[in-house]
Amino acid sequence: MSATLEILPMSSWVDTGGKPLVIAGPCSAETEEQVWETATQIKALGYANVLRAGVWKPRTRPGSFEGMGEAALPWLAAVKKETGLPIAVEVATPQHVELALKYGIDILWIGARTTVNPFNVQDLADALQGVDVPVLIKNPVNPDLALWIGAFERINRAGIKKLGAIHRGFSNAQETKYRNSPMWNIAIELKTMFPELPMIGDPSHMAGKRAYLFEIAQRALDLNYDGLIIESHCNPDKAWSDAAQQLTPAALGEMLHELHVRKPEYGTDYINQLEQLRSKLDNLDRELLEILGTRMSLVEQLGEYKRDNNVAVLQMDRWRQLRKNRADLGKQMNLYPDFVEELFELIHMASIRKQTEVMNSTPAA
Ligand code: PEP
Ligand code: MN
Repeated sequence: MSATLEILPMSSWVDTGGKPLVIAGPCSAETEEQVWETATQIKALGYANVLRAGVWKPRTRPGSFEGMGEAALPWLAAVKKETGLPIAVEVATPQHVELALKYGIDILWIGARTTVNPFNVQDLADALQGVDVPVLIKNPVNPDLALWIGAFERINRAGIKKLGAIHRGFSNAQETKYRNSPMWNIAIELKTMFPELPMIGDPSHMAGKRAYLFEIAQRALDLNYDGLIIESHCNPDKAWSDAAQQLTPAALGEMLHELHVRKPEYGTDYINQLEQLRSKLDNLDRELLEILGTRMSLVEQLGEYKRDNNVAVLQMDRWRQLRKNRADLGKQMNLYPDFVEELFELIHMASIRKQTEVMNSTPAA
């Protein structure tokens, strides 16, 4: 099913001066002092466009800190006044929406655990009907692009056009390096379907650990993301939620400084070189396809031979030998082993298809 969204550009709700959007702030608003300290330090360092803080926290197990709720909203209103920065919070119920708006929260986001549930998303959409507020939607915890798109459609149909996607990665069944697997292709597919939808990377929830923030943030910028949302806490090791992935406002500033922002377009100097490289690639691809065509006619001849001698299409020993040999060759050419393996699986499958066709055809008289 094709989907359409009516989306206003990011510049209609935040001014980033042409740079990627930076949303920074603690995972959770814990105390008035912690919110004040963190927010004023972030403001003083000058890199953030928006402050974030969780007020209602969806926690995996009961009994963990579940957010300060409404009590934290005046603290956020106070830092908004002090810093002049817009404030973003997570909303999961219509009551959250109502309270956030009552306290002048500027931007709302829908968390990964809410995006998974169309009933919850529809309740939020109903609560947002007729309200003019930007809404950012995190990917669902499971890698289901349709569910993510569905959430955008529901919120968009409620009249919200200031939309953005937050890519926070997907739950893992097994222990992996990152807390949530990025699965970059899912976000890229969303961006391909809706090029005007701002894409914001959330390295904090992908990484789960401070040490991996940089590499993930850089990857997001390499993919031309429109912004980053990163958790920062004035005393990260003592944070009441997500301590391992938060970093001080100063450390975040250093990290942002080290990141390379890529050019979305190529300048004129690059065009010539770029065109030359692209035309070499075009030629190589043509040659590759010609070689595949030649290979396929050999396969066809082999099929005819097998048919005329009543030999089965598939010989396991030969296939095993071929796979091993191609893997070794691929290794010598510095190709990714899984790429070579998948490539020859595909070639082999197409060859079998061809030979099966030949088998079932009648020999030329
Ligand atoms: C958060 O941003 O603190 C949060 C709860 O994130 P997620 O919905 O991605 O788990
Ligand atoms: Mn968090």
